[in-house]
Amino acid sequence: MSVFGVFKCGNAAELTYYGLHALQHRGQEGCGICTTNGMELYRERGEGLVIEIFNEKKLTQLKGDCAIGHVRYSSAGGGVDNVEPFLFRHHTGDFSIALNGSLVNSNQLQMSLETQGSIFQSSSDAEIIAHLMKMNRIKDKTNAIEEVLTMIEGAYAFLILTKDKLYACRDANGLQPLSIGKRNGGYIVASETCAFEAVGATFVRDVNPGEMVIFEKGADPKSILFADKSSHKMCAMELVYFARPDSEIEGVNVHTFRKNCGKYLARLAPVEADLVMGVPDSSISGAIGYAEESGIPYEIGLIKNKYIGRTFIQPSQELREKGVRLKLSPVRSLITGKRVVLLDDSIVRGTTCKRIVRMLKSAGAKEVHVRICCPPMPHPCFYGVDTSAREELVSARLDVEGVRQMIEADSLFYLPEEYLRKAGNETGLCLACYNGEYPTRLY
Ligand code: 5GP
Ligand code: SF4
Ligand code: MG
Repeated sequence: MSVFGVFKCGNAAELTYYGLHALQHRGQEGCGICTTNGMELYRERGEGLVIEIFNEKKLTQLKGDCAIGHVRYSSAGGGVDNVEPFLFRHHTGDFSIALNGSLVNSNQLQMSLETQGSIFQSSSDAEIIAHLMKMNRIKDKTNAIEEVLTMIEGAYAFLILTKDKLYACRDANGLQPLSIGKRNGGYIVASETCAFEAVGATFVRDVNPGEMVIFEKGADPKSILFADKSSHKMCAMELVYFARPDSEIEGVNVHTFRKNCGKYLARLAPVEADLVMGVPDSSISGAIGYAEESGIPYEIGLIKNKYIGRTFIQPSQELREKGVRLKLSPVRSLITGKRVVLLDDSIVRGTTCKRIVRMLKSAGAKEVHVRICCPPMPHPCFYGVDTSAREELVSARLDVEGVRQMIEADSLFYLPEEYLRKAGNETGLCLACYNGEYPTRLY
């Protein structure tokens, strides 16, 4: 999931449209934009890609120079009711909200709100935040949001748009990324800095863990530190898998991080081989690093079809058994008879990796040596990132040798945690899915 915000930058809807395009890799299920011209809030949303939901006509209807936008990724709770930004009408002033992340105490909060009379329309935590804002009956919105921030716990980066202000809030551990950029005297806020390039904005700084930044006309952005205790525990999987290589997160370039992971893997787990390749797209940088460090040539041995969308019809069982493969395809002539080092970002259930090893072997690979750019993941994520339940996590059931056998690889090596830290310049990271050390309370 991802958020994007614009404050006082000309045509806000158009900028948000481009910003959301640059963030599309973080969610393809739904998207929306809410704008304001200082008098009204306008909103458009739908299920599908940014390019499917918006057109020029819709963008002209979204008036104003301030906006927030969202792209949604989720297996839980579909339907257009769950597509953000949410827009709330209230006699004290309309407001809109877009959230990236997940609250760990949402069940408790929702139950308490329902007992007090709230009725929910979606399964998104953004709606809980909105209800909390109104339930505490604090008139001033800034104070109301501040109060909410003391009640919610978890991993979040959210934006709230009112007729005259834009609020940007990041959780106390900085689990979710959120950055501020500048453009023509106005401001842009985005989950990833790659969106700044898309709209011609320049990076200013990250929103700090436990910080709320308020953008208001005629004043410099105002910062409120709301958490008693804050720490830098950004989700390591952002660097490993989610983010785009051209983004800088917490001062770390994503491509460089992944390339370093590949270099460490080459040092720690060398192997005699003929070529190195990565699973597109997230493991290409790691493969380049491994190749550079080991001296084994890097090759593009797998091609990813970029045009397989959400509504793509999966091939029938019969066609699958005949080896009809559409998303990933091996470059057979490169692979036949070769010893291959295969870099992949992570193994969750293990099914993807197994499929790829089989694909390479059936394309004639003599050996396939798998190198994973993060440690094994035996612990579930409660922060809305990895939705897998513990039962599905292959590393919760099997040790490394067990996983190697299961994915049918000739060798398997995972990057140890300390090297992941090193690749990230020792910036504080959440590593809970690898080591079980959760930075928040769990309910
Ligand atoms: P699995 O082992 O579950 O079959 O597949 C893991 C692969 O799926 C990873 O290499 C990664 O590229 C991709 N992937 C897709 N969604 C996610 C996610 O939410 N978390 C992680 N860690 N990987 C994901
Ligand atoms: Fe990210 Fe893993 Fe922490 Fe979840 S548990 S926030 S996936 S590092
Ligand atoms: Mg992958």
